[in-house]
Amino acid sequence: SKGKHMENLPVEVALDSEEKVAPISTFDDAGLHPVILENIKLAQYSLPTPIQRYTIPAVLQGKDVVAIAQTGSGKTAAYMIPTLSKLMGKAKKLRGPRPGASSPKVRAEPLVVIVVPTRELAMQIFDEARRMCYRSMLRPCVTYGGRPYADTMDDLAQGCEILIATPGRLTDLMDKPHVLTMSRVKYTIIDEADEMLNTDWSEALAEIMGGGDTNDDADHVYMMFSATFPKGARQMAREYMSQSYVRIRIGRA
Ligand code: ADP
Ligand code: MG
Repeated sequence: SKGKHMENLPVEVALDSEEKVAPISTFDDAGLHPVILENIKLAQYSLPTPIQRYTIPAVLQGKDVVAIAQTGSGKTAAYMIPTLSKLMGKAKKLRGPRPGASSPKVRAEPLVVIVVPTRELAMQIFDEARRMCYRSMLRPCVTYGGRPYADTMDDLAQGCEILIATPGRLTDLMDKPHVLTMSRVKYTIIDEADEMLNTDWSEALAEIMGGGDTNDDADHVYMMFSATFPKGARQMAREYMSQSYVRIRIGRA
């Protein structure tokens, strides 16, 4: 099974922060919301992968996280599961007004923004988000360069708590009037950070990490996921993330 294969990954964990995070050994003892636990079961994930064992409790504790692990190690669920779990616990409080209710012209007020380098990845992460949001109040949306704007506008108009986007498309939407506000974003997640810095998305990433000037929430959580942790990514972590961010490295990345 997939789970078995995962257990054979080399495990070399470096927690470089002062703060210790106790890894979970099963999904059931992680303290996750019952709805997400049910969705984990539906996905047939029987045991957390190594990166998930450390990342899930760190995110549940509200920490900023940099997680470095090879492709195929389960990084998507490592951020998706704890982030959605936390929001499910507060869904009533956090769910935005229906589009148009408070600010008539703004279509989407996401709580989570997940930034990925390619359209293929965006669609893949959207699938995982849909599976994990099943039977919850949380509504994922996806957009990327090349997707018709009209389709994105229609999706956003239905309401969007979880936005998955490529950096260029996301900054386009941020720059358009009345489409998207970043002011309610609590979680900013950069996936494949190394890839994105390679393709020189650094300017777009800076705008996204900065929240488009509208978000100065001290509780804002930042996460970066990557196969490697090059200089540019370390710089970004230093600049935007809490000083006590937790760095988790699995294997010999
Ligand atoms: P990465 O982002 O590290 O490359 P992915 O998040 O794409 O890895 O996950 C790789 C595959 O592993 C996906 O097919 C995913 O559904 C599966 N997977 C993730 N977590 C688990 C788990 N705990 N048990 C079994 N399979 C898992
Ligand atoms: Mg990935």
